[in-house]
Amino acid sequence: MGGEALRFFAPAAWVNGAWAPDVVLCVGADGAWSQIICGASAEVQGGAQRLPGPVLPGLVNGHSHAFQRAMASLAERSASAQDDFWSWRDRMYSAANRISPEQLEAIAAFLYSELLAAGYTQVCEFHYLHNAPDGSTYADPAEMSMALVRAAQRTGIGLTLLPTLYMRSGFAAKGLRDDQKRFASTPESVLRIASEVRRQAGESDRITTGVALHSLRAVDEGAILEVATYGKSMPVHIHIAEQQLEVDDCIARHGRRPVEWLLDKLPVNERWNLVHATQCTPAELEGVRHKGASIVVCPSTEANLGDGVFDLARWMGQSGSWSIGSDSHVTRSWQEELRLLEYSQRLTLRQRNVAARSAWCESSAAALFQGALDGGTAAAGAPLAGLAMGQRADFMVIDTVSPALLGVPASHVLDALVFSSPDADFSDVFVAGRRVQRADSDLRAAFVRAMNALWS
Ligand SMILES: [Zn+2]
Repeated sequence: MGGEALRFFAPAAWVNGAWAPDVVLCVGADGAWSQIICGASAEVQGGAQRLPGPVLPGLVNGHSHAFQRAMASLAERSASAQDDFWSWRDRMYSAANRISPEQLEAIAAFLYSELLAAGYTQVCEFHYLHNAPDGSTYADPAEMSMALVRAAQRTGIGLTLLPTLYMRSGFAAKGLRDDQKRFASTPESVLRIASEVRRQAGESDRITTGVALHSLRAVDEGAILEVATYGKSMPVHIHIAEQQLEVDDCIARHGRRPVEWLLDKLPVNERWNLVHATQCTPAELEGVRHKGASIVVCPSTEANLGDGVFDLARWMGQSGSWSIGSDSHVTRSWQEELRLLEYSQRLTLRQRNVAARSAWCESSAAALFQGALDGGTAAAGAPLAGLAMGQRADFMVIDTVSPALLGVPASHVLDALVFSSPDADFSDVFVAGRRVQRADSDLRAAFVRAMNALWS
């Protein structure tokens, strides 16, 4: 640990799953918390920089495809009688196959600035756009990955880059479709991209790497093993059981459901993050819990794509680890993600305060926020577990004059953040103890140029 570099005072802060009053927050020279003092006396507060509102720890965005930010709101018109996940995917591919590295950097930088302003301080990029539009390999195989790295470095957000293995178009396919050739990769190429990113970006907990398998339909058992067993501590991410058709195809091919097969065939452990898991039986969730793996829930995208509803009540009831991801980025608000997650449970079960009762606590917002926070570290593979010694000093300062918070008792501020919309804002967001800047005019202009080039 480095010596104390910065001291902040917050009138209240979210520490160990509850509000603590009068908190002095000390950041070491390494950008991690060196001391958290709750109920600090006036004397202890002396010399600390006073923050204008209550403080929440920064959240990990556990699942992102940054290029899909360019599609937000542009796939909401029905083009055929059959409009579902698969027809959406065809439209998504048409955008994916046009994006240049420069456009990806512009779109990601704007997205990351939005995520930071919203209080996400780390993003896990599930990245499979490896090749040039014609399918050829870039001279630097990490070209597209480095566009994401530069976007993260420019905005200050932490990045967990997950180069993603994508080898075939379906369980029984020999290879990829013509419109998937940008995704073509091998275990070797994915691991090379990961090491090349570490070499070019330098080792730091701000830019880190893991690995991802696109899905069971896109990767076979041997290749998954090769990638997933690489390294001892890297996070491993996989899309799983998102759509019923994928479940049906898996049963047809392997005689088992995706999560059943995964748990039986592969060394799933606490490094694994299963993205979506919307089509899981209680026994499958029990099996995932037994292995110590985490779930990444993406409520807004799962709603947008008609995926189904993750069984949060059961998962929280067995103290399963989970994080949230904004995935296709139809919203960049974690408040909206958590609200949707709770409301989907209420609509399904016809009950209220499902998360609170599942987590045996009083407040739904507290149960949801703490759950998403707790699972973030596993998704990111970085020390991001909140306002505690040794964790990176990432936090957001709540703007208490936001309309949604006016007149709300201090004890209910988190409830109002999640359950009263339009969302309240954050006056400032900090990563590793440093205030991050809002999107500047250059960044906005580059985003507009990229959008015009893609859609005009
Ligand atoms: Zn995804």
